[in-house]
Amino acid sequence: MNNKISNKGSLIVVSGPSGVGKGTICGKLIEKYDNVKVSVSATSRSPRVGETDGVSYFFKTRDEFVSMINSGELIEYNEYNGNFYGTPKAYVEEQLKLGYDVILEIDVNGAMNVKKVYPEAVLVFIAPPTMETIRERLIGRGTENIETIEQRIEIAKKEILIAPQYDYIVINNDLDMAIKDVVMLIDAARLRVCNNKEFIENLLK
Ligand code: 5GP
Repeated sequence: MNNKISNKGSLIVVSGPSGVGKGTICGKLIEKYDNVKVSVSATSRSPRVGETDGVSYFFKTRDEFVSMINSGELIEYNEYNGNFYGTPKAYVEEQLKLGYDVILEIDVNGAMNVKKVYPEAVLVFIAPPTMETIRERLIGRGTENIETIEQRIEIAKKEILIAPQYDYIVINNDLDMAIKDVVMLIDAARLRVCNNKEFIENLLK
């Protein structure tokens, strides 16, 4: 990946079923590449063990979340499994203006809403090689009880039905390969004509 901030940054939406490894992929991307920022979402769900406020999520009460919605602070929000999740607008717009590529790790409904507000956003769906892998990873993670895991698997099936509306699909069979694929898509997004209109205008001056 080209680390220089030269062209305009892109908005990259990464979705995929719970347990598919999107958090791990996004975490590695910000570790390795200076030009990539991951937006921190707000949620009304309780923190899991090991999650830190302001890093994993901005943890809010339901009332606080509703007031963020009402004051227009969110680009999009969705209710997932009884909890609100949403993307704060200010950080995303600021980072894009500075030329960074911004990743939103959000669910499929949120992704469809982002596409309405930012039609130039690049939508990437991270898929598991098989449904069994999802179950194994959720059990292995040990952060949810079996009932929640079964609910998340049912949600995963519904999410996969929306995958055809995405721009790209990356299969997370091998973590390093999946990261390489996402990096390739971020690089390609920088070369999109919609991100280089100024360059073209300057050529004609
Ligand atoms: P989890 O509870 O496992 O952290 O997240 C549950 C789901 O909410 C995941 O599919 C995750 O991608 C999604 N999610 C996280 N942040 C946001 C957000 O800001 N907006 C939307 N629409 N979904 C989100």
